Amino acid sequence: MFNNLKRSTIYKLAAKAYHRFKSSKYLAKKGTGFYCPGCKKYWKNFKPFPQEWLQGLTNSGWPYKPEDAETLNYEQYTCHGCGITDRDRLYILFLEKMLDRHKQHSILEFAPRPALSGFLKNMPNVMHRSSDLFMDEVDDKLDIQDLHLYNNNSFDVFICSHILEHVTDDLKAMKELYRILRPGGFGITMVPILEPVTETREDPFVTDTSLRLKYFGQADHVRLYAKQEFINRLASVGFKVKLYTVDDFGKELFQRSGITQKSVLYVVEK
Ligand SMILES: [Zn+2]
Repeated sequence: MFNNLKRSTIYKLAAKAYHRFKSSKYLAKKGTGFYCPGCKKYWKNFKPFPQEWLQGLTNSGWPYKPEDAETLNYEQYTCHGCGITDRDRLYILFLEKMLDRHKQHSILEFAPRPALSGFLKNMPNVMHRSSDLFMDEVDDKLDIQDLHLYNNNSFDVFICSHILEHVTDDLKAMKELYRILRPGGFGITMVPILEPVTETREDPFVTDTSLRLKYFGQADHVRLYAKQEFINRLASVGFKVKLYTVDDFGKELFQRSGITQKSVLYVVEK
C-alpha cells in the first residue's frame, strides 16, 4: 500500500514535470518541419529576420525589399537552438558534401560567427583557423587586404562571407585570398546580392553611415555588388568561379534546411 502510494505520487510528479517540459518555450519550437544542419535538430520553424533591421533599412530610404535578396530566408532566418543563419546552413551543407572524411582540411574563416565556427571546430577532419581585423576572439588579427602572416598556398578552404562589401580595396583582398589558397582548394565567397541590382554601386566619398545604409544596405558597407561584376572581379584575380544552386542540393534539402529555393552559393577555386 505504502509502495503503491509512493509510486503513484512519483508518477504524478513525473507527469507534471513532463507536462511542464512539453509546454516549455523550447519544446513549443520543436517540430518536424525543418532540420538544422548546424545543431542537427528538428524545428517547427526558424526565427525570422529581425523586423527592426528591416524597418531601419526602409526608414533610411533603401529601395529594396527583403525578397530581392538572392540568398536570404527572412522568414526562416536563424535557428532557435544554435543561432545559425540560413546562409551558414548552406555553407555547412556544402562543406559536408565536399570535404573528404578521411582527410584533414585546413579551413580559414574570416570574421567568424560563433554558430558556424563552433560547428567547424567540431568537425573531426577540420583544422580551423580564424582571422579578422577588429574581432578579439580570433586566432589572427589581420586585414584581409594584407594577409602577411600566411604563406602562399597554405589553406585548403577559406570562408569569406559578407566581408568584401566592407573592404575598401576588394581586388587587393581577392588577390590575397587567391595567394593563400592552395591549388585545388576552394573558398566560399559570399556578398549580399540583390536581384534588381545590375550595376555595382560604390563611392569612397560616401562615408556618412545613414547614406551608406541607404545606398549600400548597411552602415559599414562601402559598396553594393551587381552579381555579374562580383563574379568578374573574382575571376580577374585568377579564380574559377562556380555557382551552386538548388539543382546541386535538391529542393527537398533546401526546404528542410530553411534555405530559399533561389539561394546561390558562390565558390571560388584555384
Ligand atoms: Zn541549429
